[in-house]
Amino acid sequence: MHKRDPRYDILFEPVQIGPVTAKNRFYQVPHCTGLGWLRPRMVAELRGMKAEGGWGVVCTEYCSIHPRSDDLPHPYASLWDDGDVRAHALMTEKVHEHGGLAGAELWVGGSRSTNLFTREVAMDVNHLPNAVGFPYQARRMDKNDIREVRRWHRNAALRAKQAGFDIVYVYATHHYMLAHFLNAKTNTRSDEYGGSLENRVRLVRELIEDTKDAVGDSCAVAVRFSADEGGGDDDQPIIGEHRDMIEMLAELPDLWDINIKDYSREMGVSRFIREGSPETYMSYVKSVTSKPVVTVGRFTSPDTMVSQIKRGIVDFIGAARPSIADPFLPKKIEQGRIDEIRECIGCNICYTGDSTGTPIRCTQNPTMSEEWRLGWHPEKIESKGSDSTVLVIGGGPAGLEATRALGHRGYQVLLAEAEHTLGGRVSRESELPGLGEWARVRNYRVHQIQQMPNVDVYFDNRMDAEHVLAIEAEHIVFATGARWLADGRGLYNKRPLEDFGPAEQVFTPDDIMAGRLPQGPTLIYDDDHYYMANVIAELLRDKGVPVTLVTPEVMLSSWGDNAGEQGRIQRRMMELDVNIITSHGLVAFDGGQAQLECAYTGELKNVAAEAVVTVTMRVPNSELFHEVEDMLEGETEHRPLSITRIGDCEAPSIIAGAVYSGHRYARELDTEVDRDNRMKYDRVFFDDV
Ligand code: ADP
Ligand code: SF4
Repeated sequence: MHKRDPRYDILFEPVQIGPVTAKNRFYQVPHCTGLGWLRPRMVAELRGMKAEGGWGVVCTEYCSIHPRSDDLPHPYASLWDDGDVRAHALMTEKVHEHGGLAGAELWVGGSRSTNLFTREVAMDVNHLPNAVGFPYQARRMDKNDIREVRRWHRNAALRAKQAGFDIVYVYATHHYMLAHFLNAKTNTRSDEYGGSLENRVRLVRELIEDTKDAVGDSCAVAVRFSADEGGGDDDQPIIGEHRDMIEMLAELPDLWDINIKDYSREMGVSRFIREGSPETYMSYVKSVTSKPVVTVGRFTSPDTMVSQIKRGIVDFIGAARPSIADPFLPKKIEQGRIDEIRECIGCNICYTGDSTGTPIRCTQNPTMSEEWRLGWHPEKIESKGSDSTVLVIGGGPAGLEATRALGHRGYQVLLAEAEHTLGGRVSRESELPGLGEWARVRNYRVHQIQQMPNVDVYFDNRMDAEHVLAIEAEHIVFATGARWLADGRGLYNKRPLEDFGPAEQVFTPDDIMAGRLPQGPTLIYDDDHYYMANVIAELLRDKGVPVTLVTPEVMLSSWGDNAGEQGRIQRRMMELDVNIITSHGLVAFDGGQAQLECAYTGELKNVAAEAVVTVTMRVPNSELFHEVEDMLEGETEHRPLSITRIGDCEAPSIIAGAVYSGHRYARELDTEVDRDNRMKYDRVFFDDV
């Protein structure tokens, strides 16, 4: 039995928050799940899992107080009526079952909520354009509206209490309505809610007081607030009036949940932002209040956590992403199993769920969102269903996760890898600029596999079809990955380009990652729209190569916008002096000139380039799978029980897709799966209402 390192005892001290006490310092701050009111059973199970994993506090996502705050297509939570109370009670019961406190983040959207679902008119401090660019406006609130909002907030707080929540939030940041009241630029009112600092803070103060009055006897009241005003370069915070505001309200709430204005930093991807980055912005907060303080920082190292507490920066270790990547992070520290923590890699795939209005997924944790509908537990898995041996070919993220989970189930697993290292694309990509933390996908799994006597890994072992069958494994899994195309084919060009060469001047990401680099002015053609093209641009610029980055999309890394990283990518490219051309497809290359076509008019233009890097699409390395399939054609006696493609070998996608695929394979082996309906669906049925 492992024992907790006494150095970490401080993390397990109980902390009082007003009338309630958290059992430890691990605090899952409010975070989106892409589930919200749309998927109450899924979200309840997901939050309950965090409590089971040891989080002392587990919060909802932003929770609308009234239909005038409706954020669809982003799935928020709501506390509008008794149905919502019942839905949230599913969550609070599960959190309480494991000794956690449940927190509800009451939310008023203002000009950021378009109300496309409820068709209500949004209201804000002033007449303001819709903050997410929709062709609507929010109208200015009059005094009566302010009274109404206070009433709605109070009622929502009462419903939160009824649903079993222990902590109720006043959410005064993240560019929503209350933040607009605080901000002198948006708040130009001349009544008692505008003008002086005291007036701009008034509504927040009133809501804290109202909430205390309504539920403060048994619920703690938390305030989510920004420590800075925004603006300024990284690590050069402009604190401005925000310190004064916190000082004015210092002792009023029971807890301060502190964030920073720049969302792309607060929850930035690891390519740009390191662990603990809010500290420079908020380290003063504890000196102006005696109330407990929490903030985030993508903390995964218990030593950093202890240091944050001991140095008086925070009282709670706040986490969204680390609790997504590993819901059992607190338990693992508590039980002295630190090397088993599945560390977040900072890729923000989790955030893309909210951006796209779909259930949250995580690169490191394939069970995220699947707790209820597939019954997947992040730490537990059924024992093997037979004594079969499984041969896994390829040790990328798909093969590694399949091996790890099959090994956990107790199967005899042989993992054959062509290279002398494991990790596949994750190992290669983590060598690219800024992506070092991605190696954690490999490291966690390799470490687990090394502890398993039933798993054997064969390196430098490029399998051919005869070799595969000679092993006589009962189940064969092909996790052989994919390769990038070099012929220009992709979303824009449906067919390979005809005038495209010479071949030695054309490169793919595979070439770049293998160290074959272009010389001279290079055109990178991005028809992939995520990180690969711009990361390669960064690599080449770091080596002094002049780079033109071309995309048929209207902006660089258009999909990266879902992960909240587009702005920083764009800035990095501009700082690196990359020549950016948008809305153009690549149609030809002759070794000296690349020909581009306007995506709107078809007009052609030439750009001088001595090399082209095509980042368009990949094709599966599925030849081996098909060869084995052919060899087994008609074979009846010496057939394996199954042959299966997983990960990029089946269909190339993001790393999270490969990990999920490997996990799914391992979960489902020797189980009965209804192929037509493999999961429960969290829908509202007529008899539910
Ligand atoms: P995925 O993302 O689906 O896991 P990757 O491309 O990351 O795919 O990994 C595929 C892995 O398979 C690579 O490590 C590669 O070296 C390995 N591989 C490819 N073909 C073979 C083969 N014939 N035998 C053994 N390993 C192979
Ligand atoms: Fe971390 Fe990526 Fe998982 Fe989000 S998806 S929790 S950023 S590993």
